[in-house]
Amino acid sequence: MNLAKRVTVLAPSPTLVITAKANELKRQGVDVVGLGAGEPDFNTPEHIIQAAEKAMREGKTKYTATAGIPELLKAISDKFQNEYNLTYTNKQIIVTNGGKHALFNLFMALLSPGDEVIVPIPYWVSYPEMVKVAEGVPVFIEGKEDNKFKITAEQVKAAITPRTRALVINSPSNPTGSIYSRQELEAIVEVCLSHNVLMVSDEIYEKLIYDGHEHVSVATFSKEAYENTVIINGMSKPYSMTGWRMGYACGNQELIQAMVDLSSHSTSNPTSFSQYGALAALTGPQEPLEAMKTEFVKRRDRVVELLNEIDGISCLKPEGAFYVFPNVSKAMEKQGYDTVDKWAEDLLEQEKVAVIPGSGFGAANNMRISYAASMEQLEKGIARIKKFVEGK
Ligand SMILES: *Cc1c(COP(=O)(O)O)cnc(C)c1O
Repeated sequence: MNLAKRVTVLAPSPTLVITAKANELKRQGVDVVGLGAGEPDFNTPEHIIQAAEKAMREGKTKYTATAGIPELLKAISDKFQNEYNLTYTNKQIIVTNGGKHALFNLFMALLSPGDEVIVPIPYWVSYPEMVKVAEGVPVFIEGKEDNKFKITAEQVKAAITPRTRALVINSPSNPTGSIYSRQELEAIVEVCLSHNVLMVSDEIYEKLIYDGHEHVSVATFSKEAYENTVIINGMSKPYSMTGWRMGYACGNQELIQAMVDLSSHSTSNPTSFSQYGALAALTGPQEPLEAMKTEFVKRRDRVVELLNEIDGISCLKPEGAFYVFPNVSKAMEKQGYDTVDKWAEDLLEQEKVAVIPGSGFGAANNMRISYAASMEQLEKGIARIKKFVEGK
């Protein structure tokens, strides 16, 4: 079949090989420990489910406005006003089928062929592929592990060309869990503003920050920063709503309108009753989120402790999200592996633990473990990793 160039440039998802193999093993009845999942292992809170159910029963099962129901747009607007003192009118907000869809529409609305987007490594797997589909060019800069995988303002500056349109910022980060400090962001914002580079701030893990650290959004730094930022967020991670497909973007009205126009000819509105669920998530009790955070902290601490006990693995303690991104290069060397892909494949084959090789995030020496799994599964999985690496 002669396929469009825009899809033939897509790299296949690197997680697929491992996930497909893990699923096949599970089907065969093998006891696989899956630590690859990129979603919370908690149920969607009950009051959210009830709100969606009620909406369905009340007949809210028809098309809505493409950008979302006014009540939800207002709830999102209120959130930014109350939490960050940022003002977004309804026309500056679009509700989308997940944060992923918001990012996709954003790059489609922003980029002309050849426009560049600076993407920090390690990156969330979809950023470069979305940029490519939109006929843009991802330009990579590497967040070094000794800087907690974070990029610096100097690196951004060095990567800027006349074609640069945007920089992706993802704090807390998937896959590293790192968060940027106010000072670090201030320097980055300054560089972006002086070169007219739009900041795409993916804040989907905003609520999953630990140890008393605060979330800092670049949009809050100044009027200019606000005008040059698009915030991406969604319900998937804070409210365990990955399957509901609820995300949103806030920013420049013209840009948001272009994103709405794209939606109007592709997906139309995001699912009507999911929007009522999202409304309940934002305006209802936040206790389930707090309970989930408490559990995540316990798991993170244990996982980091256990991983660092393995000879050949070193693991930073991240401040957010629900991932750790340990360095396994010494283990690989000791075991005679050239690539982390093969290492992860053999880990699955021999010890039945599924982790995501760092190559998919642009990092050849690391792997991602998600601690959105029970403590029992985490301990069992890491004991098996220890056996795989140390041979005992
Ligand atoms: C999960 C995730 C998203 C969006 O997920 P949706 O389910 O589409 O809302 C966006 N960015 C990052 C970094 C993520 O990990």
